[in-house]
Amino acid sequence: MELLMPTELLMISTEDDTTKASEGRFFQSFGTLMMEQKCNLGWYLVMIMTAAGAGSSYAIQSYLFARFITSFGFWGDYLRKSTNFLCLMLFVVAIGVGLCYFVLGWVSNMVSTETKSLYRKEYFRNIIAKPISFFDKEQNSAGTLTARLATDPTQLQQLLGMNMAMVFISIFNVIGCTVISVYFGWKFALVVIAASMPIILGSGYYRVRHEVKFESRNSEVFAESAKFATEAIRAIRTVAALTLEKTICSRYEALLNDHIRKSFTEARFSMILFAASDSLVLLCMAFALWYGGTLLSTFEYHPFNFFVIYYAILQGSMAAGQWLSFGPNIAQVTAAATRIHNMRAEAPHLHSRGSTRPTRPDTAGSSRYMIPLATIQKGADISFRDVWFTYPTRPNPVLKGLSFTIRHGQFAAFVGPSGSGKTTIISLLERFYEAQCGNILYNSDDIRFISLRRYREHMSLVAQEASLFRGTVRSNILLGVDERTVTDAMLHSACRDAGIHDFIASLPQGYETDVGTSGVALSGGQKQRLSIARALIRDPSVLLLDEATSSLDSETEREVQEVFERTASGRTMVVVAHRLATVQRADVIFVMQDGRIVERGDHQRLLAARGWYWQMCQAQAML
Ligand code: ADP
Ligand code: MG
Repeated sequence: MELLMPTELLMISTEDDTTKASEGRFFQSFGTLMMEQKCNLGWYLVMIMTAAGAGSSYAIQSYLFARFITSFGFWGDYLRKSTNFLCLMLFVVAIGVGLCYFVLGWVSNMVSTETKSLYRKEYFRNIIAKPISFFDKEQNSAGTLTARLATDPTQLQQLLGMNMAMVFISIFNVIGCTVISVYFGWKFALVVIAASMPIILGSGYYRVRHEVKFESRNSEVFAESAKFATEAIRAIRTVAALTLEKTICSRYEALLNDHIRKSFTEARFSMILFAASDSLVLLCMAFALWYGGTLLSTFEYHPFNFFVIYYAILQGSMAAGQWLSFGPNIAQVTAAATRIHNMRAEAPHLHSRGSTRPTRPDTAGSSRYMIPLATIQKGADISFRDVWFTYPTRPNPVLKGLSFTIRHGQFAAFVGPSGSGKTTIISLLERFYEAQCGNILYNSDDIRFISLRRYREHMSLVAQEASLFRGTVRSNILLGVDERTVTDAMLHSACRDAGIHDFIASLPQGYETDVGTSGVALSGGQKQRLSIARALIRDPSVLLLDEATSSLDSETEREVQEVFERTASGRTMVVVAHRLATVQRADVIFVMQDGRIVERGDHQRLLAARGWYWQMCQAQAML
């Protein structure tokens, strides 16, 4: 099945001429959505049966109503008995309808809540498994994705819940009313239905079409403002420090105002259609009255039949009008379903990617494109061979034909001005992105052919931004390792090496202390050390440090650096550093300049060369 790519999805909301195409996909998405409800088939049958009960009560009502009106001709006892009987019947119908509504509401609520929760879980699973490049895209910012995660599954719930129940009821309402009116006078019934249905449904269709378009635009605008709000709240410290409160509020308001202004324009048109479709029902009823009057005046119809048919058609046409009022809702939901399906369909994670390269023999039984696990050894040589890399969101290459080799157990450092591509090298080594040209080798195997999970198990990355998750200090350090294999002694020793053990011990609950959401309670340096401990406990073959110690003071930085060097035996260490003092002891230093390595060698050799490195050392007053 063809599904929308995200860029196309955006186009739906902005370009009118794509509406036709979007409608096609709309139904596809809706179809897929319904197919996925197969497991709830039993519950839907219960819903349909109870809806049949509730919906057909309208036909019964029209029968009882006609009986009541036509008993006016008789006064006294007969009228009393007749109305008593009709009351009793209505009482029975009321109880039956009440029961049907109760079961229907209960089942639809249960099915829709469950579905919402399933979709939300799946949505999140799909988002979280996307390659890093997915998150670089403008339309996939954290704000947009969280807004969608919140709204899209809820919209599905709204459709599958009471809305679906109401559609079922009105379908049975129309069926019941049609059957009873045809039964009591096919000529009158068919003429009125034939004259009114196309008008009612046609006008409703145009209204819904319009609202469908409006809805998909609406949700994009909403996501846009939600994104802005999330970003502003996330950066609240910057906002406060720069006293941006007013500016931020007015920008948010401008986004919303723009939205409201557009809504008003759109709503005007849909209100005209709304008014028109309701007046059309009345016009049709006027026609029915006229035609019925003619049939009555020629004694072709008994007043009882006339009343049954008239009342039934009135009820039925109002219900048919209701069908279409669910249109915008269905539109909303289908836009949501389309986004959920897109999230599924879009570029899967790297490790599920196939390859056209010749495959290697696979004795470990993993994917046939993957190198068997046994060949990945601890400690590794890393080489780049003429690697060119361009970020998918940027036009120009960031790495321009990079070649270097870092031997097993070496301590390698990348230095250079910011923006020269150091972090990009680390990202490529972590396989957050894939180089467009050239090869990256891990022990002479191209990293693209190694199972991603296994590969990453051999790596530890400490980045500049330390991120903590909700939970205890212990659980934060043990992220990504099997807790059962780690003893307290190992944990404490890793923390001692990272220079954080004493601090943790001084906390009220020691290692069991909650770090608070996003670790707000810890300083930058403390968070950094926690993530260093996290890296050490994994006992990686390759340790990647991207300005990992830059938020520590120079005294602690030196201590931590020594720890890295001490524990580095047998382990390859790739360090990106701003302060050159920390890399003096590196086996090899690569000096980066605009995506290229301009110098390489150890500290002494580079100083002797009196080039870039020498200049940088001078600038940092190291000489
Ligand atoms: P360094 O770590 O040396 O400061 P980076 O590797 O972070 O430099 O960045 C190199 C270049 O790539 C910069 O021009 C930067 O703007 C760009 N860049 C970095 N990350 C991304 C990204 N996720 N998407 C697009 N461009 C990026
Ligand atoms: Mg960087």
